[in-house]
Amino acid sequence: MPTTAHLDKLNGPQRKAVTYGEPLPEKGYASGPLLIVAGAGTGKTDTLAHRVAHLVIHGVDPARILLLTFTRRAAGEMRRRAHEITKQALNEALGGVSQQIAQRLTWAGTFHAIGGRLLRHYAAHLQLDPHFTVIDRADSADLMDSLRQELGFAAKEQRFPRKETCLQVYSNRVNTCASLKDTLERHYPWCAQWEEGLTQLYRAYVQAKQRSRVLDYDDLLLYWHMMMQEPRLAQHIGAHFDHVLVDEYQDTNLLQAQILHALKPDGAGLAVVGDDAQAIYSFRAAAVENILGFAERFKPRAEVVTLAQNYRSIQPVLDVANMLMAEAPRQHRKYLLAVRGNGARPRLVTVDELLTQADYVCSEVLRRREANLPLRRQAVLFRSASHSDILEVELAKRKIPFVKYGGLRFLEAAHIKDLLGVLRWADNPRNTLAGFRVIQLLPGMGPVNARSALGLLESGGYSFAALRGFTPPQSAEIGWRRLIELLRALSDPERPWPGQVNMAREWYRPHFERLYEHFHTRLGDLDQLEHLSGQYASRERFITELTLDPPNATSDLSGRPTLEEDYLVLSTIHSAKGMEWDTVYVLNVVDGSFPSEFATGRPELIEEERRLLYVAMTRAQNELALIAPLKFHLTHQSRQGDSHVYGGRSRFLTEKVLKTLEAVAFQGTALGSGESLADSGAAVSVDVGARLREMW
Ligand code: ATP
Ligand code: MG
Repeated sequence: MPTTAHLDKLNGPQRKAVTYGEPLPEKGYASGPLLIVAGAGTGKTDTLAHRVAHLVIHGVDPARILLLTFTRRAAGEMRRRAHEITKQALNEALGGVSQQIAQRLTWAGTFHAIGGRLLRHYAAHLQLDPHFTVIDRADSADLMDSLRQELGFAAKEQRFPRKETCLQVYSNRVNTCASLKDTLERHYPWCAQWEEGLTQLYRAYVQAKQRSRVLDYDDLLLYWHMMMQEPRLAQHIGAHFDHVLVDEYQDTNLLQAQILHALKPDGAGLAVVGDDAQAIYSFRAAAVENILGFAERFKPRAEVVTLAQNYRSIQPVLDVANMLMAEAPRQHRKYLLAVRGNGARPRLVTVDELLTQADYVCSEVLRRREANLPLRRQAVLFRSASHSDILEVELAKRKIPFVKYGGLRFLEAAHIKDLLGVLRWADNPRNTLAGFRVIQLLPGMGPVNARSALGLLESGGYSFAALRGFTPPQSAEIGWRRLIELLRALSDPERPWPGQVNMAREWYRPHFERLYEHFHTRLGDLDQLEHLSGQYASRERFITELTLDPPNATSDLSGRPTLEEDYLVLSTIHSAKGMEWDTVYVLNVVDGSFPSEFATGRPELIEEERRLLYVAMTRAQNELALIAPLKFHLTHQSRQGDSHVYGGRSRFLTEKVLKTLEAVAFQGTALGSGESLADSGAAVSVDVGARLREMW
């Protein structure tokens, strides 16, 4: 009789979800489709981890479980938790069943990463080169841009959409399975006049990708989706997995839902969890209808379990979140009730400007650390990556280490792109995007030379030896010869993966030192890249997984924390999904940020902004501070204009919501102690700025 120890700490509905289905006579576990839909912090992710443990304890092979999460980090965390739960339940000191989870639960990752792996495996059936390269969004936008120029759209009198917009429209259209016309009319009406030009551009884009044997992010889903439309392939792939579990289901898009459906048409072994109140990815074409309509997709309908108790936060934190959502016009009401009881009310902290905001965060963070709350149990969350700029400088000044999630990506740093470019090109000689970049690292080699060298490579059948036929300018001669040697060495199929990054670095070093003025500050990033490479079994896995889910940005300022060290977390709210911290500070809780200045217009976009604030608030376990600077920097300003505006109070902070908050004003620490003016009761205010303007 298998143990039930892993069920002990669960509440009734959690246990029901974990054990849903029944053990098979020999070993294994059968179940119909299951949906767990519940509010933040109610243990959805935890329940999923327990379900993995439960299945494995009943003899399901972890290698036959597919676990789909929103980030690679979340997948790793889930594997760790399931391992731990099983180990404790079975009282295993070492080895055994729990060890299997650690070793064999390898089908855990994002939809995109799993899609990539399946595509390589089935490439032969798709007329796809299994050595395709995955390109990130920045590279996709660059490719779009060069085609936009080639087709003459860049020179149009009326402005053709920018490269990022072109990519967004494309991405939205393919992920929603809508027509281009509908996509433009619904989401990008200001681009509707360019339908014909965009069609031409996208046609060229698709051809260029196929020629170079590269797949962009969307292709990973698109190809997977198409592969699943072929019944025999779908059946074959579905048969690899006895159970398919999906976290954060509210943020999946139509392609992802259809992929799942094709994997498990009758829903056998399929369990999805999510919270419609946390749907925050509609800008990436996520469709909240997926979760709302999940149960009815199946006959008989899927089992639905709801979880009511919140284990994460104290009640005053939930009171604010509940009130925020109670004011949403259209919703399925969910009231979050804390198991943990009462505590201090969250604060609404008014500060005069962004520097004071940074000052406030730094001093509060340090104050709590003095009181023994480590930095890593505190997090600063914000709407857009750039909102933490000033804070980052202040943290560096005060030597407070931090990591930033969802911000400037590590992979976007030019020197990282250079080095990865070498590896990408060696991996796929047809990847002209990478080749184009690498060639131009050499002195005296510009776009014209790069194009003609690539032309030679193509006519030479993509053998790197063909590059010898190109005569570079004198300044590049040595570098050119070494580059060819390097590419030939790296592309030798017999060459083992360890050591390859080092070889590429050796070649890159003189160019790196010539190209970057303060190259010393960038060296650490290259070290980190080399270090990371050791964690991957092959070059292809390294390049792909890094592209799909890059590591945290290493900011030059952050003092590079290692795992053992304590550091503060900075994160965009989008990247903070599913996480929790003791103390959470939310920056810029003013109109323009909540909701974002870009989300005005359509009511459904404003509601998504409300949910975003809800996600931010519900990350806090004990303390929550919403910070509202009176003077707020806007990103888009006319050239003549002031770069600051006086931010209005966030429209989400209505009178009712304000009643759940403790209002405080913070004046800054710079002037030292003593009674502040605000405390003295006399409200003094001088608009010096206005007076200075009046002088002229
Ligand atoms: P989110 O919607 O933010 O993703 P969630 O519903 O996935 O939240 P979890 O992250 O799984 O919630 O759980 C929140 C916290 O509650 C975690 O710290 C978890 O360990 C704890 N928790 C969950 N269930 C229980 C339980 N039955 N007993 C004690 N703690 C629990
Ligand atoms: Mg979760």
